[in-house]
Amino acid sequence: MNNTLEIKHLEKNFGKKKILTDVSFTVTKGHIVGLVGANGAGKTTIMKAILGLVGFSNGTITINGESVSLNKHQALSKVGALIENPGIYPYLTGWDHLRLFAEKNITKSMMTELVSALKMDKYIHQKAKGYSLGMKQKLGIALAFLNNPDFVILDEPMNGLDPQATFDLRQLITTKANEGTTFLISSHILGELEKLAKDLVIIDRGQIIKQTTTDELLSTGEKYFVFGQLQAESSKWQFRAETAQEDLERVKQQLVAVNQQYEHRLQSDQVDLAQHQELVQQARQAKLTKWLHPFKNRQKETKHVSQS
Ligand code: ATP
Repeated sequence: MNNTLEIKHLEKNFGKKKILTDVSFTVTKGHIVGLVGANGAGKTTIMKAILGLVGFSNGTITINGESVSLNKHQALSKVGALIENPGIYPYLTGWDHLRLFAEKNITKSMMTELVSALKMDKYIHQKAKGYSLGMKQKLGIALAFLNNPDFVILDEPMNGLDPQATFDLRQLITTKANEGTTFLISSHILGELEKLAKDLVIIDRGQIIKQTTTDELLSTGEKYFVFGQLQAESSKWQFRAETAQEDLERVKQQLVAVNQQYEHRLQSDQVDLAQHQELVQQARQAKLTKWLHPFKNRQKETKHVSQS
């Protein structure tokens, strides 16, 4: 069996809202696969469906050939996962958490090795209520790796990690992948996954728009998609835009300054100006006048790209 995970024609609604539409992709055994898309694209919902945490109206999910659903979890026995915020007990230490969730065959030295790999030695015996966001995230990651899973699912694992911790996690993932562990890792930042993932699954508004390899994406892409989210008091909205490579850094810096930012490179023949106009309109409505100006500039520049 070459595929650890096979998802076919997955459909999911929350109430009347369609969240996933005909989602199909595979994860090859031993590969690190990146699931990339904007906030709200459906990454977490896919991962929850794989883990039997939410139901789905149509489609199939199999792990090592065995189907998974809300009521069928047998295939998950060798799967480790971190989904959304790790469930942490504030009055237990990090070490208590590891002991609590460790299976019988996990020795103390295995746990110590994991703690060291994630550089958690200094605070592992402190109560989790004093942990920072990044420390909690690392504990969640340690729990996902704890029982030596064959398949690890990590939802935005770099969230809250500083550059050193991100580097350490990348090392750990690479080491485990070299030993044969399969990974599905989500992120809204393609740059984070480029360094890790061999395969990429790109999702946009509940639909898989591309399953490709990092090499292919990097060698053939001529334009970039920039995914972003702005938040102004009560209003929050998302956009997708395309930009030329030479303009990417400047656009990225603007987005970082506003709020979260992410980008990924994707070959495309068309530049969608309607989306830019919508963006400017939304910015105006949200009274984001401060940011209207740079986006207006970007709109002009993108127009230039489309003409070239
Ligand atoms: P993020 O990067 O922000 O975590 P995501 O790609 O993981 O985003 P999901 O969390 O899967 O996206 O959400 C996909 C869509 O499903 C969003 O529109 C979200 O509002 C909606 N959604 C998620 N969970 C629920 C729920 N329990 N009830 C209703 N809608 C939901």
